[in-house]
Amino acid sequence: MSTERLYYDYASAEPFEAVITAVRPWESGGAALALDKTIFYPEGGGQSGDRGTINGIPLLDVREQDGEILHIVSSQGAVCGPARLALDAVRRRDFTVQHTAQHLLSGTILRLTGKTTVSMHLGDEINTIDVDSQNIAADTLVTVEEAAADAIERDCPVIIHLCPPEDVESFPLRKVPPRGEEVIRVVEIAGNDFSPCCGTHCTSTGQIGALRVLDAEKYKGMTRVSFIAGRRVLRDSRRLRENADIVSRAVKVPLAETGKGVLALLEKTRALELRVNALADTAAEAAAAALLEKAGLAGGGREGPAVVVERYADAGMEEVLRIGRAAQKRSGAVLVLASERELKFAAFCSSKGRDIRPLLKGPFERAGGKGGGGPSFFQGQFVSAGELADFLSAVGGPA
Ligand SMILES: [Zn+2]
Repeated sequence: MSTERLYYDYASAEPFEAVITAVRPWESGGAALALDKTIFYPEGGGQSGDRGTINGIPLLDVREQDGEILHIVSSQGAVCGPARLALDAVRRRDFTVQHTAQHLLSGTILRLTGKTTVSMHLGDEINTIDVDSQNIAADTLVTVEEAAADAIERDCPVIIHLCPPEDVESFPLRKVPPRGEEVIRVVEIAGNDFSPCCGTHCTSTGQIGALRVLDAEKYKGMTRVSFIAGRRVLRDSRRLRENADIVSRAVKVPLAETGKGVLALLEKTRALELRVNALADTAAEAAAAALLEKAGLAGGGREGPAVVVERYADAGMEEVLRIGRAAQKRSGAVLVLASERELKFAAFCSSKGRDIRPLLKGPFERAGGKGGGGPSFFQGQFVSAGELADFLSAVGGPA
């Protein structure tokens, strides 16, 4: 049984009375409801299906199948009989605005560049059109955006023409109409666009409010243009301004110069990083010299112990590794250096032909360490200070 379609004329949140004529099982335990008449737009023409409720049960999707409109709900609670339909009118309005904006954008791009829109997608956040063009210059997009703003300001009427297929040639259509339809629905934006379309549209361009082109990128030999319209432009602007405000205050630059301000800050940070690195190397060299002095290895000869264990209470592993690398340049001894703060250690040995693994492996495994390495470098970590202490004592004697 076909459903009477009222969605083109009904966009209100006011409840609407209808009758559920069939309840059928649907994928994943849901149900598909058929109604005698519906106010819900079924997914199609690049526009997603409406949302809302039927007898309080949330609508998950609306599909058209073999001329019948199916209302998908998650609950099995629905039964045939009277139904109160409530449309999510805010969402419908949003999609109607995005959809009308898409017509205006595609029509304007065609008028100004001669390039056609091949496909479109209206998303919950961002919409896209794929334009049959290798490249659209940034200044062209600004011109398109301004021309669309002109059309919005002029509040051009949006006119729906219902015509038999044989008459459709009389319209300068932007795209090929669907085949096999008894009536073709041609959507005209006066002075801007003619397009066959089954979606929901505003009655004039002023209702779009604003149209913003966000980006254009190469996509499968075409250009994918992303855009937003209506309240989405307002929300986007608000969000960007909130972020820009944070950056402006933090970097202490005017709102309009946050980009330049952040780049200057990054450059300064990079210079500081280089300086900090140089200072850390100098400090590590000094710490390495002190370590070898303490161990009696300052001369670089073979005097002193073959294994040096050092515990650093406050240094992190990055600093410990720096000290180890500096020390192994000056001595061929086995250096086992630990960060007590991070419960980690690293072992170094620059003597060619010496393998430190047999020395470390037993104590390491007995203390329950995790890690690994090769003959000249080995690192690991423990879950407790006690385990780290046991390992260090076993390798080089008590602290
Ligand atoms: Zn449309």
